[in-house]
Amino acid sequence: MEINNIRKDFPILKNDSLVYFDNASTTQKPTQVITKITNYYNNYNSNIHRGSYEIAEKATLEYENSRIEISKFLNCQSKEIIFTKGTTESINLLAYSLSDTFLKKGDEIIISEMEHHSNIVPWQILSEKYKLKLKYIPISKKGNLKLENITNLITDKTKLISITHMSNLLGEINPIEDIISIAKNNNILTIIDAAQSISHDIIDVQKLQCDFLVFSGHKIFGPTGVGVLYGKINLLDKMSPFLGGGHMIKNVTMEKSEWGELPFKFEAGTPNIAQAIGLGEAIKYFKNNYNEKNKRYLKELRGYLLEKLLQIQNIELFPELNYQNNKGPIIAFNIKNIHAFDISKLLSTRGICIRSGHHCALPILNKFKVNSVNRASLYYYNTKEEVDYFHDSLKEIIKKLS
Ligand code: PMP
Repeated sequence: MEINNIRKDFPILKNDSLVYFDNASTTQKPTQVITKITNYYNNYNSNIHRGSYEIAEKATLEYENSRIEISKFLNCQSKEIIFTKGTTESINLLAYSLSDTFLKKGDEIIISEMEHHSNIVPWQILSEKYKLKLKYIPISKKGNLKLENITNLITDKTKLISITHMSNLLGEINPIEDIISIAKNNNILTIIDAAQSISHDIIDVQKLQCDFLVFSGHKIFGPTGVGVLYGKINLLDKMSPFLGGGHMIKNVTMEKSEWGELPFKFEAGTPNIAQAIGLGEAIKYFKNNYNEKNKRYLKELRGYLLEKLLQIQNIELFPELNYQNNKGPIIAFNIKNIHAFDISKLLSTRGICIRSGHHCALPILNKFKVNSVNRASLYYYNTKEEVDYFHDSLKEIIKKLS
């Protein structure tokens, strides 16, 4: 079976006693990516953009090739790709660098109630510092956004909408095309948090017309410690640097410095070279493997997991029963009168990895008045057999705890 061939690419999945259902947290890494990284350390470890010797040139070439690979993937220019540590750093970079040029006291920023903390906290810090107003698009009882609620929040002071493409807790996929179009009609900048969606769709930033898009490498088969900020050239050009130091300058005198060209203006210091190179390979792997067939399979698997969960007594799907099909492969749930942590801890004794807690989405939990929830998140290397084992184990655990 094809899935078994895919599983062979992931060394960790050779461990039959492991059932990994925490893919929204981080995806597993294929051999191709691991080999690419170890190959850098084994054969051409050196700093980039500096040395004129052979291995340094090779490292620079591989690092820049990775940037080109990512730019082709997102359909943009390579200098519009900034390497960061991940989604969190990309959003912090934007919050810091946009504030100088594009935001002033009294301006308004719109985010939603379903954001990950990394798309909330930087804006709260900024709002506090610059006296901006932060507004939240409410989510409905079913856990989705209504476009009219966005329009209602917009005023002539609204400068920015920063929104997640796919919720890491609800699996909800937001209508970002419509949101971007509303923003454009009102001269509002847009940031898309693609941390979850990046590994579930082909994203074309030219088509989307968003101003910025951010994601983390580790959620799309890549290593941790590297991520991407895509930004339109004309905007990145106007923004001030985030970090100062080596590598990001054109000239430094004792009095002042001039910034380097894009993308280097935003890449101060020695970057995560091995990780960035690994991310290029991860994107290649994703492009070669994520086809309509796998997409359909994953959708079916999500359906199967939902069906199995609904057979469980006392299941409480979070936030409430919602069968719509356009959701990502993430299902959150609780078992009545059993703490989420007990469920995930006991599942782990059977080799099953799911997450429990607040999932860095406390505003959602507060809204629905729960303090903890379980989350199972699938990827296309997961199987029906694993779902069956998960279902049977969950049933046994509930029996034990009841
Ligand atoms: N946004 C979303 C939607 C996420 O799922 C995550 C990671 N769970 C982040 C942002 C933050 O990503 P990172 O921790 O890799 O910076």
